[in-house]
Amino acid sequence: MALPERRRSVAVRVGRVVVGGGAPIVVQSMTNTDTADIDATSRQVGELARAGSEIVRVTVNTDEAAAAVPHIAERLAAAGVAVPLVGDFHFNGHKLLKAHPACAEALAKYRINPGNVGRGSKRDPQFAEMIETACRYGKPVRIGVNWGSLDQDLLTRMMDENSRSPAPRDAIEVLREATVVSALDSAARAEELGLPHDRIVISTKVSGVQDLIAIYRTLAARCEYPLHLGLTEAGMGSKGIVASTAALAVLLQEGIGDTIRISLTPEPGGDRTREVIVAQEILQSMGFRAFMPMVIACPGCGRTTSTYFQELAQRIQGHIRQRMPEWKRRHVGVEDMTVAVMGCVVNGPGESKHANIGVSLPGTGERPVAPVYEDGEKTVTLKGERIAEDFQALVEAYVERSYPLKEAP
Ligand code: SF4
Repeated sequence: MALPERRRSVAVRVGRVVVGGGAPIVVQSMTNTDTADIDATSRQVGELARAGSEIVRVTVNTDEAAAAVPHIAERLAAAGVAVPLVGDFHFNGHKLLKAHPACAEALAKYRINPGNVGRGSKRDPQFAEMIETACRYGKPVRIGVNWGSLDQDLLTRMMDENSRSPAPRDAIEVLREATVVSALDSAARAEELGLPHDRIVISTKVSGVQDLIAIYRTLAARCEYPLHLGLTEAGMGSKGIVASTAALAVLLQEGIGDTIRISLTPEPGGDRTREVIVAQEILQSMGFRAFMPMVIACPGCGRTTSTYFQELAQRIQGHIRQRMPEWKRRHVGVEDMTVAVMGCVVNGPGESKHANIGVSLPGTGERPVAPVYEDGEKTVTLKGERIAEDFQALVEAYVERSYPLKEAP
């Protein structure tokens, strides 16, 4: 598949992960536990990492949270979870990093929001303190602008300049420009303070799709720092997923974006790993990366009056997610597999032939048989009450047969 050419960016090392410089687009996420709660945060970081998050960010907002970070890192290392941890700092980051050197050391990157490092005369020295800490510990930073906390001094100055201009621009354009300027000026200041050019990642998150696209296009044209994409406050459920996908897909298709995070609001009691799965699905459905075998299922229609095929599609999807860690450990290339689960023979055999392995269930009024195709050829016809179990066994056998075993480390 021909993929769009990626924007050129500098490679930045975040722990053992490379962001930018043509490296695969990195999936990242953020915990929503109290970081001071070592048990809960270690557990959630582990869950996010096992779901496929390649970098995990934690809030570092208090002395207790900062003191917890090295313990969380130790717990994860003991559990064999080698995911880089990023500290999210606002307002008091300069103090916390100074007071907790073990936290400064354990983190793989610091996120600094230029709008929240301090007001007035405190802003520059507090920003400088954080950058000096990053230089001392050899850590990269993300200059993470968010227009909900945009530097108000900068915005006011740019709005005033605009109003005095003979041809003033719309306020929204000035706001977008201020977001970009805040990020780039802060990055330039960080470099003046000694932070190497290849230790800076930039993000400028906003909550509107058109604003995000416009801002990142401008940013991409003006710098070569790697860009962290994400629509902030995307929202809950399908709204959050659709808005994030709409914004990110446009930018990714233009080659913009080196790492992504999907900021979904979980349902009460919902699973935080959903944001990781959505990020992976965006990248995989656009062809940028492969994480998990894809299940292709038809939407169903009046030819499938029973829910049987929906249940089978869900069951196969669940089986693949559950088996994937083991398959991935043992087999090369299994994440590229496609599995078709189709509701009837109208499109079923055709779609199954395009997949690695596919089944067409009997539609209403059709003979109760389910033809299976493997690598484009019909291999077997399943019948009876155990079509789901039999198909699962065929998928297992297909993986064993088709994807070579990895060499022992
Ligand atoms: S494959 Fe069959 S069941 Fe599925 S949508 Fe098409 S016609 Fe309907």
